[in-house]
Amino acid sequence: MRLSQQLFVTLREDPAEAEIPSHKCLVRAGYIRRIGSGIYAYLPLMWRVLQKVSQIVREEMNKAGAQECLLPQLQPAELWQESGRWDTYTKAEGIMFALTDRQKRELGLGPTHEEVITAVARDLIRSYRQLPVNLYQIQTKFRDEIRPRFGLMRGREFIMKDAYSFNLDEECLKKTYQAMDIAYRNIFRRCGLAFRAVEADSGAIGGSASQEFMVLADAGEDEVLFTADEKYAANVEKAVSLPADKVASPLKKLAKKETPNTNTIESLAKFLDCSATAIVKNVLYEVVYDSGITVLVLLHIRGDQEVNEVKLQNELVRQASRYNAKTILALKIPDAAAQQKWATKPLPLGYIAPDLEDNLLKKASDIAPKFLRIADHTVTDLENFITGANETGFHVVGANWGKDFILPELIVDLRKAQVGDRAIHDPNQTLQSARGIEVGHIFQLGYKYSQAMNAFYTNEAGESTPICMGCYGIGVSRLAQAAVEQSYDKDGIIWPVAIAPYQAIVVIPNLADPDQVKTAESLYNELNQAGIETLLDDRDERAGVKFKDADLIGIPYRIVTGKSLKSGKVELVERASKKASEVAINEVVSYLKTAISKGKASD
Ligand code: ATP
Ligand code: MG
Repeated sequence: MRLSQQLFVTLREDPAEAEIPSHKCLVRAGYIRRIGSGIYAYLPLMWRVLQKVSQIVREEMNKAGAQECLLPQLQPAELWQESGRWDTYTKAEGIMFALTDRQKRELGLGPTHEEVITAVARDLIRSYRQLPVNLYQIQTKFRDEIRPRFGLMRGREFIMKDAYSFNLDEECLKKTYQAMDIAYRNIFRRCGLAFRAVEADSGAIGGSASQEFMVLADAGEDEVLFTADEKYAANVEKAVSLPADKVASPLKKLAKKETPNTNTIESLAKFLDCSATAIVKNVLYEVVYDSGITVLVLLHIRGDQEVNEVKLQNELVRQASRYNAKTILALKIPDAAAQQKWATKPLPLGYIAPDLEDNLLKKASDIAPKFLRIADHTVTDLENFITGANETGFHVVGANWGKDFILPELIVDLRKAQVGDRAIHDPNQTLQSARGIEVGHIFQLGYKYSQAMNAFYTNEAGESTPICMGCYGIGVSRLAQAAVEQSYDKDGIIWPVAIAPYQAIVVIPNLADPDQVKTAESLYNELNQAGIETLLDDRDERAGVKFKDADLIGIPYRIVTGKSLKSGKVELVERASKKASEVAINEVVSYLKTAISKGKASD
């Protein structure tokens, strides 16, 4: 492609809207253009990158036995009502764009495709002989993200590869899951990314395994905790660890103490000269279930620990049936104003005790009459602990479960694992932290959708059995930008060879020199004929501008038909290392062929 004939516009300045390097680079280099919040145009160079990534994805998916298809983006509300996700996706999380057609039928723009694919499977899959199958598509997804940002990293319209497998049973699902794990590793390796596979939160569906693939980069929105021995890596949302050892409470006698201005753990521990590990912290949450009931949750956790709200949310969904509900619509820590809705009088925030009375809750049909009391494991073995006294400015010291307070029946892991915690698999290992960009997620779904939507098959014994499912996503557009986030310098993008829009660019420094033009034209033709995708910078611009642009757009190899022409050579510059060498004109093709095949991770 000749640059003189392309829509090719680069910017001198960093765009104001861009915060992270990859976003700045892609806008400046003319790869993407913002159209609206979280909405981008993929310009010709970007589209080539996206197609390169898609092609690698496609090859590895096909190799793993998956079949490509294309599912509708317009999805009838009824399907989502069957699975029970319509309200969660349109109201609670509000992530689905929903619309009403002229016949007054409700539709959603696909944020994901479990419902659609399950509807296909229940109609077409009848017998065990048809299983397992794995279907995938590469397509635009729509999500009304609350905070779209960082360019393609979190868009409201973005490209995803999503696959859904239909398996005989869990055993069979595990095999597909493992095949996807391998395919994913191949994909990310071939795209030239440094990545880490981590244990991930599977939501409230329970027991099923799930793994995320993180591209390691400081700008990543996710935090990954891992150990140096490489035996453990997890998203912080899911991570587990051993809490620090507790320090015995110095206050052994039960007493109510005046503790002015101690509404934080830090101030209280300082005031009483005790360890935060001797304190039982009582945290109040307000949760709204999809049955319309508001439940007040009183949670007990050791003073030095933080609540992991993803774990809490999962537990609250597991408790949904108690409140005739399927899921939760909202979860927050209520402030004084929020309490007016459900509390009979203002609560002593910062000084709450585990025995906060249920009669503080207003009697109303949409408010659960009792607190849902949950304890984290870290409080169960505390003795003579310190906790609130239900009175502002006062705490109880020397308290014990069983004697002074009742330990809730519901005891679960709600604590957030933190950097420096000891690892469970080996207490000599401590957790370290890294930032990651989630580019893929593989998930053993199990029976959630097949059961809700009646996707059954007849097994070998002639019994009707729900299909066991898995789902596997890759953020294609996010991945392309993540590659830049991992590979750039002050001059611009450094594309990994395998996903670069072009592999080489021939630059003519001086258009007025017929020799330069002639050599460049013939090299340009030869390279393209040899299968090396090559750009020709034949614009009427100064040489310096052309070199800057070639660096900015990040093409792996630059060929310059400059001074060395006299001795039958051209200058060849490697973008990543900036190493320049002189290569004989008739050796350029073979030189680049070798360099490019070395630069690509093997298939
Ligand atoms: P996140 O936690 O980042 O919001 P997710 O867990 O909701 O993502 P999945 O539903 O697992 O995402 O989607 C599969 C993949 O699609 C993700 O691993 C990610 O790479 C990509 N993806 C998800 N949301 C977006 C988005 N708003 N913009 C770009 N890519 C996205
Ligand atoms: Mg995910």
